[in-house]
Amino acid sequence: MTDHRSVKGTRDLLPPETAIWSAVEELAREVFALYGYREIRTPILEHTELFERTVGEATDIVSKEMYSFEDRKGRRLTLRPESTASVARAFIENGLQSWQQPVKLFYIGPHFRYERPQRGRYRQFHQIGAELLGDDTPLSDAEVVLMLVRFLARLGYEGLVVRLNSLGDPASREAYRRALRSYLEPRRGDLGEESRRRLEINPLRILDTKDPAERRLLADAPRLGDSLTEGAREHFGAVRELLDRFGVAYEVDERLVRGLDYYTQTVFEIASEELGAQDAIVGGGRYDDLLGSLGGPELPGIGFAIGEDRLVDTLPESFSGRVSHETPPLVIAVGEARPVDAFDLCEELRDDGLCCEVEVRERSLGSALKRADRQGVRQVLLLGDDELEAGEVTVKWMDSGEQERVPRSQVAAEVGAER
Ligand code: AMP
Repeated sequence: MTDHRSVKGTRDLLPPETAIWSAVEELAREVFALYGYREIRTPILEHTELFERTVGEATDIVSKEMYSFEDRKGRRLTLRPESTASVARAFIENGLQSWQQPVKLFYIGPHFRYERPQRGRYRQFHQIGAELLGDDTPLSDAEVVLMLVRFLARLGYEGLVVRLNSLGDPASREAYRRALRSYLEPRRGDLGEESRRRLEINPLRILDTKDPAERRLLADAPRLGDSLTEGAREHFGAVRELLDRFGVAYEVDERLVRGLDYYTQTVFEIASEELGAQDAIVGGGRYDDLLGSLGGPELPGIGFAIGEDRLVDTLPESFSGRVSHETPPLVIAVGEARPVDAFDLCEELRDDGLCCEVEVRERSLGSALKRADRQGVRQVLLLGDDELEAGEVTVKWMDSGEQERVPRSQVAAEVGAER
């Protein structure tokens, strides 16, 4: 053991688990393609100001969770804590408003937040996200949720419920902020320190408190739904009607506010009970003012981010069990045949696109077979004196113990066959 350890909150992903990660990502690509999404890859480093301006200075992410530093020229940089802001920046910088709208993009990759590590919470975590920019009709809200639900269903999840809420437009939120403040101000003595701070800068965030006493206090508070303007109410109603029409299971959760400043109108989360406190697998919502606030075109957007670490942690066995961990056939040279002869055969098989490996050490047949068995090898290709001379190979099935000599030209047909 050396003194070198991975950074707290980060981890190595090793095989065979990485095969599951790849399979999840492959499926995301496949399902998102059905809806016309294409991949975007933005830099992991961004100017710190981007997140301050969009996610918001008063949010937990910006105020205490970012990995920020100055580079050698004194630029303030941050390892991205999320990607919606980056996608918005890239949209503006690359002039994507000239593309056919809406623009549909997805991303997959690592993100960084300085949080207290625990199950389902890491300092380097991975998100699979999608953004639909340039359309604000309820159909787009519904399509984004439908795509997400389809992806999760294909992964084998059952019984997941979408938690849905509307934050309304800025006018709705301003009205609600005022109502909530006047309700809580006289009761501020009953609030914890964190919520008292939020009361000044961002009272909506108090709604997602986990504190039981604060929750009781909020039970009689004015409701966000009552402050929605006519337009916001109509939009939310239309989104719900569409989700009903497509049979998406959701519940309206008026306490759902999401922790990022750029959200407006529809917000949603999907949680898994298995995860306990860190139960959200997906978070998303609409951000109609984000591009404009960055100096870009006044175009709306909506998107979501799936926490891939949490997804893999709670993946139904029906999906993870299907990901193949099969050990490839092993070519063993015995007698006069050398490992390099086994290499020849293996390269021929690889020319045909077949996986195989070579026992590189010279061992007795008995010990080579024992090792193969321990590694879970199911098929062994034996190359001995006789085989070499006759231009043949002995194929041995480890499970049944059956074996057969076949001409070298026909080995490929036997690789992977059951017997
Ligand atoms: P957010 O960008 O905060 O809306 O998060 C979207 C999703 O990313 C969450 O629902 C989580 O599944 C995942 N996530 C956020 N932060 C972390 C973290 N520190 N570790 C693991 N997953 C995370």
